[in-house]
Amino acid sequence: MSILIKNALILTQNAKRERFFGDVYIEDQRIVQISKKPLSFEADYKIDGKHKWVLPGLINTHTHIPMTLLRGYGDDMILKQWLENRIWPVEAKLGSASVETGTKLGLLEMISSGTTTFSDMYFFEDTIGETTEKAGVRACLGFPMVDFGMPKYPADELFSECERFLRRWAKNPLITPVIGPHGTYTCGPEILQKTCELSEKYDSMVQIHCSETREEVYDVEKRYGVRPVEQLKKYGLLNDKTLLAHCGWITKSEITDIKTGGASVSHCPVSNMKMATGGYTPVPELLDAGVSVGLGTDGAASHRFRILFLILFTQRLVAMCVRQLCMVFR
Ligand SMILES: [Zn+2]
Repeated sequence: MSILIKNALILTQNAKRERFFGDVYIEDQRIVQISKKPLSFEADYKIDGKHKWVLPGLINTHTHIPMTLLRGYGDDMILKQWLENRIWPVEAKLGSASVETGTKLGLLEMISSGTTTFSDMYFFEDTIGETTEKAGVRACLGFPMVDFGMPKYPADELFSECERFLRRWAKNPLITPVIGPHGTYTCGPEILQKTCELSEKYDSMVQIHCSETREEVYDVEKRYGVRPVEQLKKYGLLNDKTLLAHCGWITKSEITDIKTGGASVSHCPVSNMKMATGGYTPVPELLDAGVSVGLGTDGAASHRFRILFLILFTQRLVAMCVRQLCMVFR
């Protein structure tokens, strides 16, 4: 399939970060040519780029995509109350059909905002993978793990199911399987230890909520004698394969540990504001230390806005973004 975009404002990611009006020609998901002068390729699809921007695909570094169905469910509550009294009880009743519906809605919102990749963690992640693959969107999907079990299978099958999930999606061109222990306050030592083993065995990335609230930090400290970042370090999970969501209550020495370990951070400011978590992700300090920081929306239930968002500037993703927009507007 080929696409020719004419007269758009092109935001490049070249060394000078140039912006100019011009044409873009794409063939089989690859950008063939970007030009300030008019291009005259015969393309399958021609798009008038007037009053439009062409920019790299955006990446949402932390979300729970089916939660589009729970948007607005539970306001003015702190995270613990919100999770325990509203979210977890209703999530226990969700099946794969509702997860598929929520995923489709989330995908539509992401595609319409130019988001071409997202990092997720939720129940029925196979269903999310199948739905995402059909939409042609790229995703890192985290197999969820918590101490209190999953709705789909018994607790004693948790790790074997995780391995099955990692194997199933290992070679998929769009879906990257990831291990998703929920957090150090919801996952005990056994899950953290096993996550480390599976991550090494399958060379898999790990994403986990970390130091989102002060209560979480105190809770982990009380139970295990260390703060969440230290707990992750203890179980071999503070490395360059780990993505930490939130980090709103971390110290300067923890920033150093995150940097030394090589982990990355997903900053979810709107979610933190909605849940009034009090702390804030020390983005300038993390960036100064050389830590990679991306933006995430978190689930739609813990923020008020449509899923948009950020980062990543590669030509391949630009092409994907354009292709998605073509599918939407066709
Ligand atoms: Zn989250």
